Amino acid sequence: MKATAVVVGAGHAGLAMSRRLTERSIDHVVLERGEVANSWRTQRWPSLRLLTPNWQTRLPGLDYDGDDPGGFMPVADVVATLSCYARLISAPVRTATRIHALRAVSRGFEIQANDDLLCARAVVLATGACILPAIPGIATAVPPSIKTLTPLSYRDPGQLPDGGVLVVGASATGVQLASEIHQAGHTVTLAVGEHVRLPRTYRGRDIFWWMEATGLLAERYDEVDDLTRARHLPSPQLTGRPDAAITDLNSLTAQGIRIVGRLGRVIDGVAQFSGSLANTCALADLKMNRFLNRADEWATAAGLDDQLPPPHRFEPTRVDPRSPLELDLAKGEITTVLWATGFRPDHSWLDIPVRDRTGHIRHDGGIVTGAPGLYILGLPVLRTRASTYIHGAGADSEALAGHLHSFLSKR
Ligand SMILES: Cc1cc2nc3c(=O)[nH]c(=O)nc-3n(C[C@H](O)[C@H](O)[C@H](O)COP(=O)(O)OP(=O)(O)OC[C@H]3O[C@@H](n4cnc5c(N)ncnc54)[C@H](O)[C@@H]3O)c2cc1C
Repeated sequence: MKATAVVVGAGHAGLAMSRRLTERSIDHVVLERGEVANSWRTQRWPSLRLLTPNWQTRLPGLDYDGDDPGGFMPVADVVATLSCYARLISAPVRTATRIHALRAVSRGFEIQANDDLLCARAVVLATGACILPAIPGIATAVPPSIKTLTPLSYRDPGQLPDGGVLVVGASATGVQLASEIHQAGHTVTLAVGEHVRLPRTYRGRDIFWWMEATGLLAERYDEVDDLTRARHLPSPQLTGRPDAAITDLNSLTAQGIRIVGRLGRVIDGVAQFSGSLANTCALADLKMNRFLNRADEWATAAGLDDQLPPPHRFEPTRVDPRSPLELDLAKGEITTVLWATGFRPDHSWLDIPVRDRTGHIRHDGGIVTGAPGLYILGLPVLRTRASTYIHGAGADSEALAGHLHSFLSKR
């Protein structure tokens, strides 16, 4: 089978690209190993809600038009939204079609999909940044008697054995799951490494409103000071609760969750935590305040001070100086370890030498280096800081589809 372009993956990024290709009358097919929105259907826990507000969940040709623009979409609604979007744009999705190999050939690319061989002149990889859990090597040192879970295998607290839970990682996933598991009656210890603290709302507006208004999300990848760092920044410590309540470390300790430092090592069944918890939290507080300063300056410059509540600051993160530096995992206090340590993509099926020494695909704003006609979409800070979020796929797909179109025209 032949197509001018093949898009791999029917998440929001692949669908946005399909829409852009259709707009340019580029014949294409979207190959998806499962169903549309497969990651949201199969890899996310049911109680998850987006941490971005509903008004921001927009894609090319689709704006949020529900009755709760300030709310946060449950995962089931994300699936419904993307499924509707695929129908709305008549995306040519071939479901249950897994790509096993992608090779560069003289006239473009050869794609091994299930038992078929497809040829295309251009390929867009939209297979997601969060397909596999990123688990540190120390995980192998956790005693085998302890149940270990990742956000991909976690569904609800009912699957956990009785007893204490160590949640490793305090970004969006870690704080949400620590809170949920604690509310289900477990004793929870949360190991906190580098994190991004942000309030849910500030001066009466959602923090994502401020991030858009101040131009933070529009910062381009080639203008960001340290791009590698920006691309690996942890997700903000935010949750999308219906009551828009703050889920920062102070609120978690107030609930009764024990906060400890970054999990550094596990030796002879003993988990060792960093002693720099106070510094880590102070740094996160400092960075949050820097952003709030930027927000205040922007509001003043925009003449909005009279329309918004006055500026204020949040209580610094409270750190218990007696927070333990060790926890003997073999003693029975902890029965589950949940690795909320991030996610990674899976491009193991690529037979094209486009990866760097760390395994990441080399690209310039989504244009893959050294493989003309190959594009990637849906990675954090791909072209702007907004690329990390669903709505960022709109501008990214437009730019990459434009490049793809001129690439085809030149050939
Ligand atoms: C827990 C969590 C919460 C998040 N919350 C938010 C949020 O609140 N707001 C926000 O804007 N973003 C959020 N994100 C980030 C981001 O929007 C998601 O990661 C999003 O799913 C990425 O979309 P995508 O289309 O790039 O990838 P995906 O949705 O992962 O889609 C990739 C598709 O490719 C398919 N695929 C993979 N490999 C193959 C293959 N070999 N062959 C064929 N098909 C393949 C998959 O089945 C999948 O359907 C969150 C991410 C996570 C993990």
